[in-house]
Amino acid sequence: MNQPAKIKHALTTTREGDFAQWYQEVIAEAEMAEESGVRGCMVIKPWGYGIWERIQKLMDEQIKAAGVENCYFPLFIPLSYFAKEAEHVEGFAKEMAVVTHHRLIGDGKGGLVPDPEAKLEEPLIVRPTSETVIGAAMARWVQSWRDLPLLTNQWANVVRWEMRTRMFLRTSEFLWQEGHTAHANRDDAMEETLRALEMYRAFAEGPLAMPVIAGEKPENERFPGAVATYSIEAMMQDGKALQAGTSHYLGTGFASAAGIQYQNKEGQQALCHTTSWGVSTRMIGGVIMTHGDDDGLRVPPQIAPQQIVILPMLRDTDEDEALLAYCEELRKALVKQSALGEPVRVLLDKRPGKATQKRWAWVKKGVPLILEIGGRDAAGGQVSVLRRDRLWREDAKPNFVGQDKDAFLGQATAELEDIQRSLHAEATVRRDAQIVRGVDSLDALAKVYADDQKFPGWVELGWSRPTGAALDAVVAKLKALKLTIRNTPMNAAKPTGTCPFTGEPAVETIYVARAY
Ligand code: AMP
Repeated sequence: MNQPAKIKHALTTTREGDFAQWYQEVIAEAEMAEESGVRGCMVIKPWGYGIWERIQKLMDEQIKAAGVENCYFPLFIPLSYFAKEAEHVEGFAKEMAVVTHHRLIGDGKGGLVPDPEAKLEEPLIVRPTSETVIGAAMARWVQSWRDLPLLTNQWANVVRWEMRTRMFLRTSEFLWQEGHTAHANRDDAMEETLRALEMYRAFAEGPLAMPVIAGEKPENERFPGAVATYSIEAMMQDGKALQAGTSHYLGTGFASAAGIQYQNKEGQQALCHTTSWGVSTRMIGGVIMTHGDDDGLRVPPQIAPQQIVILPMLRDTDEDEALLAYCEELRKALVKQSALGEPVRVLLDKRPGKATQKRWAWVKKGVPLILEIGGRDAAGGQVSVLRRDRLWREDAKPNFVGQDKDAFLGQATAELEDIQRSLHAEATVRRDAQIVRGVDSLDALAKVYADDQKFPGWVELGWSRPTGAALDAVVAKLKALKLTIRNTPMNAAKPTGTCPFTGEPAVETIYVARAY
């Protein structure tokens, strides 16, 4: 009997088998990051950091194009700065790392302890976010309406003492950008808040090829001290939601705490309205869980540190020289080309080792195009091309396509652009298929998330937008099902029907999901 051939995947864990374990395996096998020995802090390795550098570069261009300027503020923030904004300090108190001493002394037993003589007058917080310290600077920088808007951003590391950590998705120390802006009035600040949100949405859907839903967070999920919080939410392949970026309208609360005031055109003092917005290394976790497959990572070409890897099949013979020369010529022709608006990034991998082993290492890293070149290809002017997003043939062999070299050079750019597009299309189709509608009761909601449902996805429903204690009651009901409200999508049509939580008429659409 003719059994269909069984694919032997590069990873030992499948997504279907154990999604959490699969995620860890991708990170290890793609050599993206590793545990550091300090709980919740990771070592980011070249391939993972290379992806972060791509994200930084492209995001930084967007930030600057909006007229926002980069600055750098201190890592340590005096505790008193936080104390000025009550909600803010309350929200972050549980996860703050605090520096209390500036010197160690011997403990008499061969160890070291903080020197009581070197106790700081005021504890310093390792920044979990920089509204307070940037606010203090803004108070110095803003005098008159002419100084507004003040648009700043910083690229930095921050520390939040997270209890449940997972590499990239939730770490105690993470890398991010934080935009902080001050404006003359609410409308200007809100416009900036929504501009940043739209920048994040377009960035996720563009360079990350990751479909997201942009919308407003419910009151209970607001950033501590914010008047309104907006997010982009992405669906991971296991159906869970990932908050992949946030933008906050902060009202005048932070301005009032830090004294960010300006003289308006009428000569009166007025408080600024401020915003903040950030994305972090979490985005890389989102890329893994959106595009990864059972052979490892698949990196969208726009954020791939290398887009094409050329692998000469070296044999330690005299013919290697001609083979390498051929590969080098290929490399040179490729780097002259542009794809997705930038010069193509190509690596000629000359390291010793078996070509097939090197091939699988690159497959696991998710490089979009792999060219394997043997002596016969070189002699015949051919290339053998493997597209990472279409790895397997029906007979379970790697899907190499033999091509004339010049023909390949003529379409390499289009191929990369097509991979970028198809990763986005594939993720969008999957996401849309995992959105459940028509849930009109709590029982129906519970059924969607019953224990036998593998990857249940999100529920889109209409609710009555309760506030205060009524909202708390809804949040508690959802919590019992391990669910959270993700956001209210922007520009959604007003729903009809009744709210499954309150029985009142539905006025607003929300997404409900399990989340990272
Ligand atoms: P926030 O300042 O809380 O609005 O966070 C800004 C963004 O940073 C969030 O949207 C997340 O994408 C990301 N983020 C928050 N906490 C963490 C964490 N522990 N590890 C990685 N990224 C995080």
